[in-house]
Amino acid sequence: MESPRAHADALARLHDVVGDGGWIAGEARSPYLREWRGLYRGEAAAVLAPASTDEVARVMAICHAAGIGVVPQSGNTGLCGGAAPDAAGTQVLLSMRRMRRIRAVDTRDDTLTAEAGCILADVQRAAAGVDRLFPLSLAAEGSCMLGGNLATNAGGINVLRYGNARDLCLGLEVVLADGRVWHGLSGLRKDNSRYDLRDLFIGSEGTLGIITAAVLRLFPRPQQAVTALLALDDPEAATRLLPILRQASGDTVTACEIMSRTSLSMATDNVPGCRDPFAEAHPWYLLVELTTPRAGDDLRTALEAMLATELEAGRLRDAVLAESLEQARALWHLRESIPEGQTRDGASIKHDISVAVARVPEFLQQATARVEALVPGVRVCPFGHLGDGNIHFNLSQPPDMPAEAFRARWDECNRVVHDVVTAMNGSIAAEHGVGQLKVAELERLKDPVELELMRGVKGALDPRGILNPGKVLR
Ligand SMILES: Cc1cc2nc3c(=O)[nH]c(=O)nc-3n(C[C@H](O)[C@H](O)[C@H](O)COP(=O)(O)OP(=O)(O)OC[C@H]3O[C@@H](n4cnc5c(N)ncnc54)[C@H](O)[C@@H]3O)c2cc1C
Repeated sequence: MESPRAHADALARLHDVVGDGGWIAGEARSPYLREWRGLYRGEAAAVLAPASTDEVARVMAICHAAGIGVVPQSGNTGLCGGAAPDAAGTQVLLSMRRMRRIRAVDTRDDTLTAEAGCILADVQRAAAGVDRLFPLSLAAEGSCMLGGNLATNAGGINVLRYGNARDLCLGLEVVLADGRVWHGLSGLRKDNSRYDLRDLFIGSEGTLGIITAAVLRLFPRPQQAVTALLALDDPEAATRLLPILRQASGDTVTACEIMSRTSLSMATDNVPGCRDPFAEAHPWYLLVELTTPRAGDDLRTALEAMLATELEAGRLRDAVLAESLEQARALWHLRESIPEGQTRDGASIKHDISVAVARVPEFLQQATARVEALVPGVRVCPFGHLGDGNIHFNLSQPPDMPAEAFRARWDECNRVVHDVVTAMNGSIAAEHGVGQLKVAELERLKDPVELELMRGVKGALDPRGILNPGKVLR
């Protein structure tokens, strides 16, 4: 960073660029400086909300020249400290919230071009408004924003069928560290004339550039959906059933969420409106949703026939099919309430990992044994996106252990779980990103060659190290 005087001059010029409308001051700064769970809190020299790509470019040029760190923030739902500035108060927080324009919708190309500050639910609505589907969907969709979704390569409940944010993006507009703009919004589906810069920026958590807009892929809107909750003996039964469902339904399985009994109970015991639809408790559950854009298909009859076969063969313990949209919502409410139920139940330690789908049962068995040996009485509450091998391997405090004593075991628990994941060639950050939370674990576990390549890319795109300093790499 330059001298204090140069720093102050730079701040004054930043104010000129964004004007009073984009200069967030006083108490209004506080939601930007803390993550909503309260785990990460920082300070900032300025909180800015530019209104256009040009303003972002001018902000970056000033910060680059003055050596000021810039922390991009969209909806601030990332949960791993990626969008929080550090405690020193010298960095600038750059909020995307004023860049909310849908720039174009093209129903022949099936594309939608939107700015980074668009709330995900608004993007979905804009697609629905032209009778199309934008399939990225996650529980935070009412507050997370497109820029954050792309910067974290967000997943969610429909990855199995449509892929994650990377698969849904055809082009990007990115402001580089020095304020130049990469105009990569071509939206081409085929282009072998360059390195894939788009894929570098997607998932880079604000460490390589500021995403200001994107061209997104749209899909035909589903005309039918059928939702079912299946009761199973074990995760092995779940991984065996998924390919059968996909094959027999003409690959219409859109979502496939696994829940252990412990995790389902977190929702039913602690969150109002959550009800177990089965008469008796089962060890594992699979929430599946099938959708089709073809009006004539009878998904329900097809699913009923498949489930009848599985029940008869004793491979399924029980099943309920939603009879209405309301019942389908109630089943999804169960799944989506697990994190809230866990929070209400006491302290928890979380892991957001992925392994090959076929290895999920082995992972669950090994990781559970390791954490139970480490913290006797710990309650393991795994759930998540089985179709992508992405499990939220969450741990709840032993009932007789003080919350603080349990939280103090966070790093130890992370280490044993991440060791199991790494031994299975899995990922320790499948959805929420690395942020600040997993920087040390990434250093400990990632292939050194890969880390070196990542540092090389970072150095090439951000030689002064001003983009989201200390996140992902240090
Ligand atoms: C209840 C809940 C459920 C969730 N479920 C899922 C899920 O199913 N799947 C999933 O993937 N995630 C999930 N998440 C995590 C989170 O919602 C996603 O990671 C989301 O994509 C983050 O978007 P955001 O707008 O909140 O980004 P932020 O939290 O604001 O930022 C995330 C990261 O991206 C960077 N960034 C933000 N904007 C830009 C930009 N314009 N350019 C460059 N970098 C930028 C930030 O610096 C930070 O490092 C969930 C979170 C919550 C709270």
